[in-house]
Amino acid sequence: MSFSTFVTDTAGLQKFYEAIMASHDTYAPVEKFGKFDFKKVTSPAECDPASPIAKTQSIKPLFFPRSAKVMKYVATSAGTDVGETDEDPLAGKRVILGVKHCDARSLQVLDKVYNWDYIDTDYQKRRMNTVLVSTRCDKADTHCFCTSLDYDVENLDALDVLVVNGEAGKVFLKARTEKGEAFLKEMNIEQRTTNGEFRSAADEAETEMKKQYESFAGSFRLKMDYKEVNARLSKIFDTPEFENVSGNCVSCNTCAFVCPSCHCFKISDEKIRDTGVRYKSYDSCNNGYFTLMAGGHNPRPAKYRRWRQRAMHKFVYYKERFGENLCVGCGKCTISCPVNISIFEVVNQVSIGAE
Ligand code: SF4
Ligand code: SF4
Repeated sequence: MSFSTFVTDTAGLQKFYEAIMASHDTYAPVEKFGKFDFKKVTSPAECDPASPIAKTQSIKPLFFPRSAKVMKYVATSAGTDVGETDEDPLAGKRVILGVKHCDARSLQVLDKVYNWDYIDTDYQKRRMNTVLVSTRCDKADTHCFCTSLDYDVENLDALDVLVVNGEAGKVFLKARTEKGEAFLKEMNIEQRTTNGEFRSAADEAETEMKKQYESFAGSFRLKMDYKEVNARLSKIFDTPEFENVSGNCVSCNTCAFVCPSCHCFKISDEKIRDTGVRYKSYDSCNNGYFTLMAGGHNPRPAKYRRWRQRAMHKFVYYKERFGENLCVGCGKCTISCPVNISIFEVVNQVSIGAE
């Protein structure tokens, strides 16, 4: 199926965003103290859909919340009453603007897990009810390596509508999925061409979007051959290289919490007297207690074993099960790590050092 492409300018794009915000629950990157997180917005003035990758959190929490109440309970002399929380886990129809390509791709990776042995209906519903409008980056950030991984960044179908900055102030909008095509229709984009805000674009758009992509793809500092990394890591397990690369890790778990594709969680209860709330919150394989068993045994007591698990899960185990890497090359873990550990360097150093 071929999808529609339109061209506008910055003012036309702003008006389009205004119309989306007036008609839909809309989320976009909102700046606070120099960092961006995806928040509900009602005006383009509140947000920056073209926010810098290095300073932007991922969209994962809008699908897999950082900490969500899953139930509440009250203990009485007659037993325990279990009740629903006041959180709406299902979310109504909504639009997310300014989604990074790596984030959109990470949802395709998470889909595999949430459609696997247990179907997470809350996640499915959120996915189904969300339209992703993605702004393609103009330039790679220092720790980005998305173009080195096993997906086609240029022709990504993980997002519904693609926004690309062209030359001379032009902005292209292209539907990438049937959902995106229907959304553009719903937003009356055809009618917007009659008042001059937009015009239909075809060959010219493809050429200019290609040019933008080539310039973006040429801006990467980090490049790797992921197949080589997959193959080398799959042959090693007990190598001292994992101790070398994880030596400075303080097991803070930040890398997993900011990662758009990590999906481990823990269930915990908070109880005051007779009333309690059960939470589902992010957890991490870098956490020293992550594999601690009830009897006291912990198969991963040393951090190099936990880092080995993190690296191998991302570049070997997940690939063996689902056919792709559990890393989208966004660099967020490296940017946020307090001791500057880079997953790009870890998997390259370990796989080459173990030869
Ligand atoms: S491991 Fe790091 S680079 Fe890979 S997807 Fe997660 S945060 Fe991004
Ligand atoms: S963010 Fe850095 S220090 Fe924290 S757990 Fe991850 S690698 Fe270790």
